[in-house]
Amino acid sequence: MKLRGLVFATLCLASVAAGAQGRPEGSEHGDPPRLGEHWAKDGKAPVAHEARVGGSTSPNMTYHSGVVLQKTVVKAIFWGSSWAPSDDKITGLDAWYSGYGGSNYAKTVDEYGGSNGQVGPSSTYQGHILDTSAIPAGTNFSSTSPVLAEVCKQVAAGSSSGGTSGITVDSSGNGYYPVYTDVPRGSAGFCAWHSYGTCSASGKTRVQIAFFFKLDGDAGCDPVDTSGLHSQGLAALASVTAHELSEARSDPASPGAWYDSQGNENGDKCAWIFPVPLVTFADGTKWKLQGEWSNAAYTAGTGYPNSTGQKGCLSGL
Ligand SMILES: [Zn+2]
Repeated sequence: MKLRGLVFATLCLASVAAGAQGRPEGSEHGDPPRLGEHWAKDGKAPVAHEARVGGSTSPNMTYHSGVVLQKTVVKAIFWGSSWAPSDDKITGLDAWYSGYGGSNYAKTVDEYGGSNGQVGPSSTYQGHILDTSAIPAGTNFSSTSPVLAEVCKQVAAGSSSGGTSGITVDSSGNGYYPVYTDVPRGSAGFCAWHSYGTCSASGKTRVQIAFFFKLDGDAGCDPVDTSGLHSQGLAALASVTAHELSEARSDPASPGAWYDSQGNENGDKCAWIFPVPLVTFADGTKWKLQGEWSNAAYTAGTGYPNSTGQKGCLSGL
């Protein structure tokens, strides 16, 4: 879900110039908006069907003139002093991103297009960066700034090393750099979010960023995967990872691309409903993931219902 207009002012995120449709522009030194928060189960009151869609109005998402991600080039960052290289969440998410590209699950977003073309299922995983520098106590992850700064730190490292370490930003603007922290959610209402910005070392090339709390033992962000294949903490990160990446692909920047009249992106509209036990990726790994909203499926009546009974979700089986 995206927060716009007055909501930004309320959250004191309006300190940067407002872009089109009241959506602030992201930059390394500004404060880009949080997009696509994955609200915790208890983090946000559900919106009634009538209030959400205005009675007879379609719940489908509409296009807001922006770009989409035609493919994704992913490099994950695990940030925080408590991460160990052998952590199952690191190895597990390596497998997740390696298997995502070309999967039927990835294809649940492919119906959407933007000013730069069509979303496609190709996703290349460049592996992960382990940054065991300590995250300063009290860092406010309601703000996108510390996360963009961490990504830009890795972009600078990539630039100064000639690409042997850090991040070399995908020049087509499809680079997606999720940051997994060792910080528990605490009282925050969201499990994760995605946003975007630019780094001085990458010039004007946009980077996609995403933020994730550590979700070990966090019932509010837990898909309750009972398969036995993954630890609870890994299963929770895999679940919210699917949500954020799907949203970034269909609504990555300003002006926005695809969201509904309430600001809900494709992941939001099918959040916390798991219609099938597990989704199988291209490499055979299996995950408990929510579906993603499809305008086409809703219109055709072929999707499964979301939490308000609207049949527009695709499972990605
Ligand atoms: Zn979301």
